[in-house]
Amino acid sequence: MGLKLACRVLLIYPRFVSETFWNFAEACELMGARYPAAPLGLITVAAMLPPHWEVRLVDRNTEDLTEADLAWADMIMTGGMLPQQADTLALIELCRRNDRPVVVGGPDATSSPHIYKQADFRVLGEAEGVLSDFVAAWDAGKRDGTFTAPKFQVDVTKSPMPRFDLLNLEYYLYIGVQYSRGCPFTCEFCDIIELYGRLPRTKTTLQILAELDRLYALGYRGHVDFVDDNLIGNKKALKQFLPKLKEWQQEHDYPFEFSTEASVNLADDDELLHMMRDANFFALFIGIESPDPETLVAMSKKQNTRRNLVESIGKIYQAGMFVTAGFIVGFDSEKTDVGDSIAHFIDLSAIPVAMVGLLYALPNTRLTRRLAKEGRLHANHDIAATTGGDQCTTGLNFDTLRPLGAVLEDYKRVLDTIYQPAAYAARLQRLAPLLDRSGSPRSVPTGDLRGRVGAMELVHRIVSALPETREPFWRVFTSCARENPNATRIIVGLMAMYLHLGPFSRRVIAEIDRRIAATPLLSPGQSYQGPHFSF
Ligand code: SF4
Repeated sequence: MGLKLACRVLLIYPRFVSETFWNFAEACELMGARYPAAPLGLITVAAMLPPHWEVRLVDRNTEDLTEADLAWADMIMTGGMLPQQADTLALIELCRRNDRPVVVGGPDATSSPHIYKQADFRVLGEAEGVLSDFVAAWDAGKRDGTFTAPKFQVDVTKSPMPRFDLLNLEYYLYIGVQYSRGCPFTCEFCDIIELYGRLPRTKTTLQILAELDRLYALGYRGHVDFVDDNLIGNKKALKQFLPKLKEWQQEHDYPFEFSTEASVNLADDDELLHMMRDANFFALFIGIESPDPETLVAMSKKQNTRRNLVESIGKIYQAGMFVTAGFIVGFDSEKTDVGDSIAHFIDLSAIPVAMVGLLYALPNTRLTRRLAKEGRLHANHDIAATTGGDQCTTGLNFDTLRPLGAVLEDYKRVLDTIYQPAAYAARLQRLAPLLDRSGSPRSVPTGDLRGRVGAMELVHRIVSALPETREPFWRVFTSCARENPNATRIIVGLMAMYLHLGPFSRRVIAEIDRRIAATPLLSPGQSYQGPHFSF
């Protein structure tokens, strides 16, 4: 038998840009967490490494990286998404200065490997399809190279159980699990279908339940997020899985409540909505993008057309789940009233948390290829040092068809309208009676540490931190507690999110104002390309 060489691997999850829509720093603080989401990709990679290798994890969003950490490691593995690009590059540089071999992977390196030339190794694509080749090369003494997985080939039924034991579970608002990869739709701006394909691949029921067993055994209780980009991409498989998930929840007395992303056609399927409610799903992210049918057709988001979107969202509320939605400003086909129409739609559909961003041409998407062909893509459009990698402040990395100043004004108008305290509270007020939690199994998952702070105490802390919310938030709270008490906990959770969203939107507006001030002399077809905004 050959000698098995041990290796000490330090997994480092890079920091996201200093402030994003999703970091919810103030809400994390209120709930006693350090960051919303845990690094599921890296702990999945950790599970694929040889068992005789030692593995440690440092998440730079929750803890410091020390010299001792680096000194311990024989190899560093890192990588993440576009908003982590700047920190990933800084880490690569740090490793090289400290003479530590560094391996980079993940979606941004896969989409833009040329940006990560300085890493010793690039492991690109889905790790299951290529990591063993890298390990074999390392064991054979190779000390640089690029390893690329064949596209869309990975059989996720063979994916290992993520190493949840590497996480400090208390650091996070929620823990992710992944059921499927890929999405059947064709949205022009989307990189998911380029990275994972259009044929959703699903794990087996036994796999996912084993992952939940593991989290349960580690003592975790509370919010679990299915990180799938579209959980309902393969409805047939999902309908076989969800009843088993419900049974698992019943047997364990509902330790978890779930959130996920789904396409809006979920609203057409009552059976599926009820199955999700019965398994204790409570929140969904849905990409609405635009209320304008012409714009939706132009971006190939046809699943959002030929339907009353407000009614579709209402049906999801009736199934006990609230909706967080994504909207985008900057499409070619937009009308001049786009700012008002998006703000009006958000109000009408009572969506409290709306992620409104500027269109961002992501690497390797149909949108980017079209813009490149039309000569409209900015130089360095994929380098986060130039673009910032956060679409709230630095999207539009291409020449817009309308004058850039007008697009930015529309964007600003949406944020300025929807994140006024009174407007946010009005949406909560309208949502509270619509959210039918009567059939939902559990309001607070059994044993959830974060569920122990009472709702009234939370409201008190929120309005103390943001006095402008005092009157409208207490009004919403008292009427919800009186008329739909089962929804109170969710409504208070959404108030907590405003602790981040209110101040964050004001800072974004200030940045957009600076960007507008730099653009008035530009005409259509010319766009302002910098500087890199950071808070
Ligand atoms: S529905 Fe979502 S994941 Fe699917 S292609 Fe469109 S944007 Fe991408």
